[in-house]
Amino acid sequence: MLNVLIVEDEPSYLEALKITLEPEGFAVATAADGRAGITAFEAAMPDVILLDLMLPDLSGLDVLRRLRQRSDVPVIVVSAKSAEADIVTALELGADDYLTKPYSSRELVARIRANTRRIADPEQEVLTAGNAVLDPGRYEMRIGESTFALARKEFELAELLMERQGRIVTRETLLERIWGIDWGDSKSLDQHIRRLRRRFEQVEGAPQITTVRGVGYRLEP
Ligand code: CA
Repeated sequence: MLNVLIVEDEPSYLEALKITLEPEGFAVATAADGRAGITAFEAAMPDVILLDLMLPDLSGLDVLRRLRQRSDVPVIVVSAKSAEADIVTALELGADDYLTKPYSSRELVARIRANTRRIADPEQEVLTAGNAVLDPGRYEMRIGESTFALARKEFELAELLMERQGRIVTRETLLERIWGIDWGDSKSLDQHIRRLRRRFEQVEGAPQITTVRGVGYRLEP
């Protein structure tokens, strides 16, 4: 059973979320403000967090910052704020997904499942490219003798590049498959590519990510 923590100060939204999620088989814990959200995270160790942005005391973004200092738990922001700048900020701070209120219950459940797929199925096969091995069960990448714990999106980026090693993967494909929405700003992708490249560069004989200018990237094993 997946444990969901909902951080939301509006009682009617909180109730609606519980009514949506419990029949779907999720165990639901709740917190009504930012500080309570952090405390509940530490107590409940949820598999996924639904996070409102406009909260009393700590804002949702503050909560997100604090969570990311200690955990890669999937965080789906559920907010009435629908401006592109709000969405980009939340994603850059490490949110895994963003849903605007009012949302459809079916979409919410689908997003939760998409963002927790790895937890539900940790026995996925190991991918290799040259001397790099990606282990979905542990969220790790081993290159030669070195082991790296990867953040969620970095892991997904490595996974897509390794699945299609030797071939070009377009920026659009990466944005669509990893970030899931077309918000028109791809800075986060550039940051993740740089981070992954740095890991490869630390180990001799590791695969390389080459840039195909204006198109995308290719992993050379
Ligand atoms: Ca609120």
